[in-house]
Amino acid sequence: MTRVSDGDGGTERAGGSAAGDPVLRVEGLHKAFGGLVATDDASFAVERGTITGLIGPNGAGKSTLFNLISGFYDPDDGRVWVDGTDVTGAAPHDVAAHGLIRTFQTPRKLEGMTVREAMLVGPQDQPGESFLSLFTSPTAVADGERANLAAAERILEEFEIGHLADQPATDLSGGQTKLVELARAMLAEPELLLLDEPVAGVNPTLANELAAQIRRLNDAGTTFLVIEHDMGFLMSLADPVVVLDQGSVLMEGPPEAVRSDERVVDAYLGGGA
Ligand code: ADP
Ligand code: MG
Repeated sequence: MTRVSDGDGGTERAGGSAAGDPVLRVEGLHKAFGGLVATDDASFAVERGTITGLIGPNGAGKSTLFNLISGFYDPDDGRVWVDGTDVTGAAPHDVAAHGLIRTFQTPRKLEGMTVREAMLVGPQDQPGESFLSLFTSPTAVADGERANLAAAERILEEFEIGHLADQPATDLSGGQTKLVELARAMLAEPELLLLDEPVAGVNPTLANELAAQIRRLNDAGTTFLVIEHDMGFLMSLADPVVVLDQGSVLMEGPPEAVRSDERVVDAYLGGGA
């Protein structure tokens, strides 16, 4: 695998797996759907304290990689370590227990819930039955979620969306839904938060708000791995940036190096080998 060094001689955080303190490490991840190889020997690491970007053309395997890392898919081959623990093949809630939380490219439907209630849906729960069962039992909510409720109120305030708490979750704009997704993920107090296209469909004002919130949370100690198509958004936020192409890591480096790399341009133009 080729690794790009910083052109101006600075070391930055180049590499990723060579030194330092990785909060996530993936090695040789492989996943095929029938004859289609979605992830092909993907290896990289996320250093603690970074906002690491993950980019690549449509269909490069970015979301599949998130699913493999967070336990929603089992890899055909390869390994995943979170905070030094091998979590390969572990269920999503087990991976979450090690401090890794993810959001989904397509936010889940939150029909019949207020924003406050939506906050209490576990971020690692599968869409569907698991969260429905939670809300069909009012006593379970009352008993089990009281402490979480206070935390949810606090986090909504921190995100400056406390005033939305009583609104039906389905009444939110796309951008507000993304903010609630991020707020909800933070309720689990993750060490590492994986965001899949957090500003897709979000207006520029709210995108800036999301970027500010991500920076605030990063300053407070949360590490991020962010997939995003909006290059302006990602390049101003993330360092380093990992480039995925056809299921493999094409290169990794500071945003300036990635942006000007010919192989990356070729990959986006569909001119890959
Ligand atoms: P990206 O997020 O980079 O756009 P994906 O990881 O969503 O890419 O998809 C990579 C490839 O794997 C695509 O060709 C996609 O159609 C395929 N793929 C992803 N998930 C599945 C699935 N559950 N079943 C079959 N094919 C899938
Ligand atoms: Mg995707």
